[in-house]
Amino acid sequence: MDLNETMHACGLACSTEGKATVSGTYFVDSLLANVCKLNVTRFPYEIARIAEDIAGGLLVTMPSALDFQHAQTGKYMEKLFGGIDGISTECRLRMLRLVENLTIGAGAVAYRTESMHGAGPPQAMKVMISRQANFNHKKSLAKNIACLDDVGVDC
Ligand SMILES: Cc1cc2nc3c(=O)[nH]c(=O)nc-3n(C[C@H](O)[C@H](O)[C@H](O)COP(=O)(O)OP(=O)(O)OC[C@H]3O[C@@H](n4cnc5c(N)ncnc54)[C@H](O)[C@@H]3O)c2cc1C
Repeated sequence: MDLNETMHACGLACSTEGKATVSGTYFVDSLLANVCKLNVTRFPYEIARIAEDIAGGLLVTMPSALDFQHAQTGKYMEKLFGGIDGISTECRLRMLRLVENLTIGAGAVAYRTESMHGAGPPQAMKVMISRQANFNHKKSLAKNIACLDDVGVDC
């Protein structure tokens, strides 16, 4: 949950920090936009990992829907793959198919690989972030906190 919300928050942040250009159009805050996209290259993979963890191996060993609908095998499927009361076996199996689709099925193209490479690979974000993050200022802050000047340590 916090992973999706973090990406949402980054999207809002780079938009609200955007500025008007000379032409009158608006441009997002580029540093925050690249941080947002870098999170997009990472978090869907963690979300997919958590979804696979919760789903269990049935995610990939589950029989076909045809077996579920079959006159002879359907009743065994109903019995053996049922979950808690109040959730139908078919609903459970459909949810597993949805997770399968997003993590290793056709939907993974858009959910995983497009998150990773769509609009540029992570390295492109890292290049842009390194140009805008003002690392020298951050290094000087760290040196100041560590009092390296006071004790004459060359760093
Ligand atoms: C599902 C999907 C949907 C897409 N949809 C669109 C779309 O709608 N519109 C669109 O315009 N494009 C789209 N793309 C293309 C996307 O923008 C490119 O995939 C992306 O820019 C990466 O380019 P590439 O695939 O050629 O990988 P490459 O650029 O070949 O990257 C491969 C590896 O090389 C590294 N690399 C490349 N150049 C450098 C460099 N200069 N310095 C250091 N490392 C480097 C990368 O970090 C990566 O590890 C889509 C891609 C996917 C996978």
